[in-house]
Amino acid sequence: MNKVILLNKRPVGKPTLNDFKFTTDAIPVPPTGHILLKTLYVSVDPYLRGRMNDSESYVTSFELGKPIQSGIIAEVIDSTHAELKKGDFVLGNLEWKEYQISNGKGLTKLNAKVSELSPYLGILGMTGLTAYLGLTEIGIPKVGETLVVSGAAGAVGSVVGQIGKIIGCNVVGITGSDEKVNLLKSKFKFDHAINYKTTPDLSEAIRKSCPKGIDIYFDNVGGEISDAVLANINKHARLPVCGYISDYNNTKVPVGPRIQPVILTKSATMTGFIVGDFSAKFPAAMKQLTTWLKEGKLTYAETIVDGFDNIPQAFIDLFSGKNEGKMIVKV
Ligand code: NDP
Repeated sequence: MNKVILLNKRPVGKPTLNDFKFTTDAIPVPPTGHILLKTLYVSVDPYLRGRMNDSESYVTSFELGKPIQSGIIAEVIDSTHAELKKGDFVLGNLEWKEYQISNGKGLTKLNAKVSELSPYLGILGMTGLTAYLGLTEIGIPKVGETLVVSGAAGAVGSVVGQIGKIIGCNVVGITGSDEKVNLLKSKFKFDHAINYKTTPDLSEAIRKSCPKGIDIYFDNVGGEISDAVLANINKHARLPVCGYISDYNNTKVPVGPRIQPVILTKSATMTGFIVGDFSAKFPAAMKQLTTWLKEGKLTYAETIVDGFDNIPQAFIDLFSGKNEGKMIVKV
């Protein structure tokens, strides 16, 4: 039996389990030249929320009644493929199925032991690349500058802050619990961290944590948190816009302060990006991340949820901050 998770309904507001449908298929038999994959680790990511809508974006929408897809690490369990052999591990954008066949296109073979696979969905995968390339290409951090990161204890944010420290910045993280504040300061060596859920005047707290103002704001969340950061930016600040999760489940376009006055008067640069914009730089970025990891300059956190059936709930839990570091489901 092969469990499969389909898009049942397009969510209105925060996704619920009813938006997903569990079904079963037969385990497929791979045709000649193909491989049979067994899912091992599934990445759940905030951007999947956008793909559940029927709207135009930089990635296509999921179709109703069809399997959801995301970054998946799988084991080749049967193969007549020329290069991928039984026992190989691969990474790809695959379907939420326990077993699936592939012709190998778009898959990356992972030269790692089974115990070392999950980081390829996080720090050595899409979120690590997003952190490194968004920060270095758009944030352009310099020694002694002040870097503020929102969504700081998540997969992208926790790596952004650490890279900021490696480069020599004063790093301030904004996050949603006291446990995460402690994690940022102890494990990830941020200089300061602020709990946005319990801080009454966020702008004032940011101002106190950034006595020299903010040179770089790596924005993962948008909304009122970003409004509070923008009030404290320096002349020539750089603002990589990586995500705006606070808005992903809104059913109405939110209204906030107009940003043109602050962007203009501070000669600031706000630049949105999709990690794929920098695909030519992925090999060099991977090399750097791997080196820092081996040298112990970078570390990572993972929240690993057990069981194929828990994939939708793990995804939903991203929107209430249940994860520290990368949210991954182990099947
Ligand atoms: P995370 O691991 O950071 O998980 C999401 C986190 O967002 C939660 O843990 C929660 O942390 C926080 N959050 C949830 N709801 C809100 C809210 N309403 N306001 C503020 N914070 C909230 O996810 P990723 O690291 O994978 O992604 C981080 C951001 O980067 C997302 O916006 C994502 O869409 C974006 N992204 C963009 C990419 C690109 O190419 N531009 C690529 C990858 C990710 P807390 O407890 O702190 O609230």
